[in-house]
Amino acid sequence: MTQDSAIDALLLELAARQISLTAENGDLHFRAPKGAMDSALRTRLRRLKPHLIDRLAPKTAPARASKQFSIGGTRPDHAPLVSPDWQPDDPFLRHVEPYKGYLLDRLGIAKTFPRAMGSHLWTEDGQQVLDCLSQYGSLPFGHNPARIWEALSDCRKMEEPAFTANAVSDAAGALAAKLVGLWPEAGFVGVTFTNSGAESVETALKLARAATGRAATLSTKRGFHGLTLGALSVGGSPVYRDAFQVPDTSQDCIPYGDITALEQAFERAPERYAALILEPIQGEGGIIDPPPGYLACARALCDAYGTLLILDEVQTGLGRTGAIFAAQAENVVADVVTLAKALGGGLMPIGAVLYRENVRTVAFGVRHSSTFAGGALACRAGLATLEMLTENEGALLDHVRTTGARLRVRLDEIAARHPDLVEGITGRGLMQGIRLRFDTLWQRPGLFGLLHAQKLMIHIAVSHLLNSGGIRLAPSFSSGNVLRIQPPLTITEDELEPLYTALEDTLSAIEAGRTSHLLRHYIGTDIDLPDPARGARTDRSPPRPHPAPEHTTDNGRFAFVIHPLEASDFLRLDPDLADVPADRMARMVAPLADYIDPVPVEALEITSATGAKAYGELIMVPYTPEDLMQMSVAKAAEEIGLAVRVAEERGAKVVGLGGFSSIVTQGGGSLVRPDGPALTSGNAFTSIAAAHAIRDAFRTDGRSCDTASVAVVGAAGMVGRAVSVLAAELAGRVILMGNPNRAQGLRRRGLELAAELVTKLRELAALRPPPPGSLAARVAKSDRPADALIAGLEAEGALVIADDLAGALAEADAVVLATNSTDRFVRAAHLKTGATVCDVSRPFNIHPDVAQTRSDVRLIEGGLVRPLSPLPHASLAGPAQDLIFACAAETMLWALDQSYDMVHPMACMEIPAMARLEEMGQRHGFRVEASKSFDAAGGF
Ligand code: PLP
Repeated sequence: MTQDSAIDALLLELAARQISLTAENGDLHFRAPKGAMDSALRTRLRRLKPHLIDRLAPKTAPARASKQFSIGGTRPDHAPLVSPDWQPDDPFLRHVEPYKGYLLDRLGIAKTFPRAMGSHLWTEDGQQVLDCLSQYGSLPFGHNPARIWEALSDCRKMEEPAFTANAVSDAAGALAAKLVGLWPEAGFVGVTFTNSGAESVETALKLARAATGRAATLSTKRGFHGLTLGALSVGGSPVYRDAFQVPDTSQDCIPYGDITALEQAFERAPERYAALILEPIQGEGGIIDPPPGYLACARALCDAYGTLLILDEVQTGLGRTGAIFAAQAENVVADVVTLAKALGGGLMPIGAVLYRENVRTVAFGVRHSSTFAGGALACRAGLATLEMLTENEGALLDHVRTTGARLRVRLDEIAARHPDLVEGITGRGLMQGIRLRFDTLWQRPGLFGLLHAQKLMIHIAVSHLLNSGGIRLAPSFSSGNVLRIQPPLTITEDELEPLYTALEDTLSAIEAGRTSHLLRHYIGTDIDLPDPARGARTDRSPPRPHPAPEHTTDNGRFAFVIHPLEASDFLRLDPDLADVPADRMARMVAPLADYIDPVPVEALEITSATGAKAYGELIMVPYTPEDLMQMSVAKAAEEIGLAVRVAEERGAKVVGLGGFSSIVTQGGGSLVRPDGPALTSGNAFTSIAAAHAIRDAFRTDGRSCDTASVAVVGAAGMVGRAVSVLAAELAGRVILMGNPNRAQGLRRRGLELAAELVTKLRELAALRPPPPGSLAARVAKSDRPADALIAGLEAEGALVIADDLAGALAEADAVVLATNSTDRFVRAAHLKTGATVCDVSRPFNIHPDVAQTRSDVRLIEGGLVRPLSPLPHASLAGPAQDLIFACAAETMLWALDQSYDMVHPMACMEIPAMARLEEMGQRHGFRVEASKSFDAAGGF
């Protein structure tokens, strides 16, 4: 067992025994029900103590409650990103790209392409994909270009040495001569070879420093020059820099395309800059064109201030814009030009830096080198590339210009059809961008709105284009709303047709809020869904917009963490998913849930009978009970912890943990932080509600305490323990049924439960007199030691420690079901004639056949209460809209009383808090009653 799984196993064991564990001030603290802790457990705790402190320490609370991400990295590092449960089989995803791979995998983008040729790639299952990304413009002739392969195999045939340091390389010489000859008027005299774009940029910066004796570089915001440290220092997106302690050079980074900013920067520091570095069109920054005259102005200012102009043509160069150098369009010659990407013809990594005479220095000449740079194979690929770009009087460049112009016309047409969504088309040649505007979508309900709020829409668009449209393209990672279109330069207009069809389809679906269509590839194409062309559906009312956190008063503040019971509960949140079958919904929601922040889905203000008010929000975690139970304990706690953090940031003083959010966090015990909000599972009031429902049923039936038997199934659970205490006030006979699936030690655990029951009943008797005839009264009357008392009660049959379900249920006039089991194991045949069953478990434990075949049995949906005024909130309510879950009600009660100090996951379950809650419930007007009974059709 690994350390992590040992910790997980221990935490699960603690949860099963109702032991809460917290790490505060560098030490572990636990609260355990009597008898729950044994020496074996203590030893395990001691052995794992430092790891447990590490796992549970308050720092596990994310500093910012968001898992918002962009692959470029806007997501805070401390928030959970990759599920610790993710163990891909694929060695690439496991070892090479565990992080990006995880994100791309969830989005359905992480494909394997075993084959590619020209403009197309093929997936493992044979789907043809049009490559409109071409490795960010590095595949000028598409995949596997025959002539580049020939150039490489010629090297082999000729037995040309690949690497010959300190010798004269024919291949490198020939390529350098061709490069400086590409634009003879520019006056390039020197070429330094590199292995990548970033290395070209590093080289350019060194050249400039050596030539000017200055160190600083002026650069532009959103500029992208590669990810090595030097290149990062002139990059304009902090997201790439922040994690790497790249020195802050932001004072030297000015807005791109802004001539005034350029002038001011030089005026501020006339002798500061060795170089100004610019892309002729910003690529990664979002395909941003500078205004006409910008490059010429940059050239003039550089001349005036003795600064070198570096034009980074790594992406724009070598034909991408329809010219060898993009700057030729403005006839602006740089002192240094960086190239890479396309130079290798799509097969070899190679870069080159071209420079003019004024940049040449001895220092650079003798102090710079790079082992593999200028290798013969790469240079031969480069030579073939230049040949293909320039032969037939530049026919390929003409082709790029005409195809690019046609591309622009078609994209403009699409943009005109989607004016609300498309902000504009930018770039030129075969480097164009579609800038989208998602702000108009913010109010969209449901999953769609959630994905948008997480800034995922651009990635969803890319995923849909790939999976449904067979088009591979990339977003611009730093700007987050631009689709980059950069197909091979050799692409034909016919080949581009599917791009237009797919774009039209994707943009229409986004515009219409067609979640089901956009996420079609998760749902599967084998089922019919309504025609996407039908437009947005308006036949269901959207949930309210997210409440503003400012909506705060001096009143109590609470939040309640909820989760969908099954993936199809997302239906309630997204009208467009109405036709998606439940199993497909699960398939779709599961991978996306890891991207979705806990989200406030409802706001509510409640007023008590005393006039007190409390404001609260429901925070939804996008996981079903099944998801939560399958996660590691660590991940589940992290996810629920994030929801608590969201609640806290939005002003909640007490947070209730609904449903399984309490179960997977040891009733909230693993989330307790000294500086955090008060936490409660709401289990105490749930128990009170269940007991009172039975009490009301007994009153209706005119049953007296002395003759009644109440069975508590799940008596070892938090709710079960509390219900047992209250049941002992209702009935003369109580049957405790622990977890029948843990047969070993059932008797021992039963005796421990009984001992705890006796202690609590004695404590309760000190607060209020037990009703005559009840088990509680018999316990209160006796002063025998607990074990003797229990033995006596067992002998008389007043207290039963049951070891078989059928036997326990057959004798019970009332049954409370309070287990963690997801099975419906209580059948019609189990129940006594005229029995009352209160099912508190979610999912229910009672089998549908009971409602269908046993009209004599009264079925009560447990855990519901009626507040003073109805709170018609679907997410909080059971089937009857005027009732709310008791666990949520408990959270509201603490908020109405603003008595947050009493609230702690375990303390809430103790007698003083239980008694206080019962009193608060009455005072604030929450009627705990025999709530709605199931009818045969509903509920089950
Ligand atoms: N410069 C520009 C303009 C680029 O677009 C890129 C890469 O996208 C680079 C430099 C870095 O190139 P590489 O990824 O080969 O290091």
